[in-house]
Amino acid sequence: MSALRLLAERELARRGGQMEHGSDEVQHLTTVLAQQQEAFLAEGPPSVEVRQARLQRVIDMLVACHEPLVAAIGADFGNRHPGYSTMNDVLGSLASLKFTRDSVAQWMEPDPRPAYAPWDQMGATAHVQHQPKGTVAIIGTWNAPVYTLLAPLAYALAAGNRAVLKPSELVPRTAQLLAELAAEHLDPTEVAVVTGGPEVAGALSSQPLGHIIFTGGTTVGKIIMTNAAKNLVPVTLELGGKSPSVVSRSADLAIAAGKVAVAKATNGGQLCVNADLVHVPREHVDTFVAELKTQFAQLFPTVADNPDVVAAINDRHRDRVQGYVDDAAARGARVEVSPEGEQVPADSGRQPLRIVVDPAPEAAIMQEEIFGSAVVVLPYDTVEEVIADINARPAPLALYYFGTDEQEKQLVLERTRSGGVTVNGLMLHPGMSEAPFGGVGASGMGHYNGREGFLELTHARTVFEAPAGADPRHDWGMLPPFGEQFHAGMVAAITP
Ligand code: NAD
Repeated sequence: MSALRLLAERELARRGGQMEHGSDEVQHLTTVLAQQQEAFLAEGPPSVEVRQARLQRVIDMLVACHEPLVAAIGADFGNRHPGYSTMNDVLGSLASLKFTRDSVAQWMEPDPRPAYAPWDQMGATAHVQHQPKGTVAIIGTWNAPVYTLLAPLAYALAAGNRAVLKPSELVPRTAQLLAELAAEHLDPTEVAVVTGGPEVAGALSSQPLGHIIFTGGTTVGKIIMTNAAKNLVPVTLELGGKSPSVVSRSADLAIAAGKVAVAKATNGGQLCVNADLVHVPREHVDTFVAELKTQFAQLFPTVADNPDVVAAINDRHRDRVQGYVDDAAARGARVEVSPEGEQVPADSGRQPLRIVVDPAPEAAIMQEEIFGSAVVVLPYDTVEEVIADINARPAPLALYYFGTDEQEKQLVLERTRSGGVTVNGLMLHPGMSEAPFGGVGASGMGHYNGREGFLELTHARTVFEAPAGADPRHDWGMLPPFGEQFHAGMVAAITP
């Protein structure tokens, strides 16, 4: 029996009493974690070349196997267009993997800091070591089932860590294939995939990991953070929320409506940064809604039989969104549908865009993230009103401003909070490899993307190197027994 296996079994036995779940997946993940931990400690911080080689192996796997992966995603969604899955999950992941591969040497450059006086005069030096944390657990969602695993993985590997990935159980074919591909193409002591549902995610997030990156809903994010707290494991939470769009009086209504139509046409509206609440000047609401309807229908003249329309991932999510629309209508909201006139069967996963105009504040659609083929249009009179509404809600993941009024734009940006912002567009800022992406408050914490992603997944360890000789403070009268001048010298150093 190999030393690795022995260690894994010992670790398994040690943790056995603490495990709440006895499933095979949970046992498998415990074994994998023990193996990764042993390999991590034996190796020490990996060199630039080792990190790049690990990233390259993931890139090569994705390049070689993108077709079956895209097919699996398509089957899980009941026919998601392969062009979209290739763009979002394959190319999106490759962008992060290549960006980190090409940036990691720069990120790992020595990071000297000036030592403070008077030690600097004595030859002291200081620097920051960006140390890998160990194993990073990455828990993903179904809506971007490969991207939410492999994009964070890029930063975990660049930071010198190992990783255990847990795909969403709502995309079982994708999850299973990813596990098989990882087993075939990657070293499980470096990157492993475990499959299963909440019980596996719960067990994984309860382990003494180096870090957890969780992507998902706010409610589950709180569970993950509670689990992590038991071991004081740091977390990055990539959550969702009700991202607002502010359509200014200075905006071109048709262009703004067209961009909202494109966003709602993407992945069936099932994206964390999608338009949710759209604030439109009261006098322009009818024009805006008409434009939104027309332009959505131009993208999708039909729905039920249209292979470009991405279906709701399952009946529960389809019915959830329909429930929000029905509830708002029952409370008196106007609901417009695009495209109009098609009798879409209620049991079709593909549903038209439902535009819910000015629903009652207590309607569910005003509280819950829509995450599907519906959007809310809210009339406003003053932009201050809009800012107050945004600030009265949990902080959203994204905020959008449409218009050319610089002063008003600055007011909106300065007086609100959100994970990120796109001006005169939707969902564009998350595509930035060079800049951090993440939420704030209820929409999450921490980032990946950019150098911030590397920093997030390393520990910044300050190393101060004092001169090797005797402590000079003795000669300066700063150590007991204190000389007469010590206190006076300290007082003299107090300056504004
Ligand atoms: P979810 O929270 O239901 O599931 C995400 C993961 O959590 C899955 O892997 C699942 O197995 C696990 N999980 C579910 N219940 C659990 C529990 N009780 N205990 C432990 N783990 C559990 O999210 P979802 O439905 O897959 O995704 C939709 C949500 O994700 C939306 O809110 C969306 O805004 C958000 N999202 C955020 C981002 C981002 O980058 N910020 C990206 C995509 C999606």
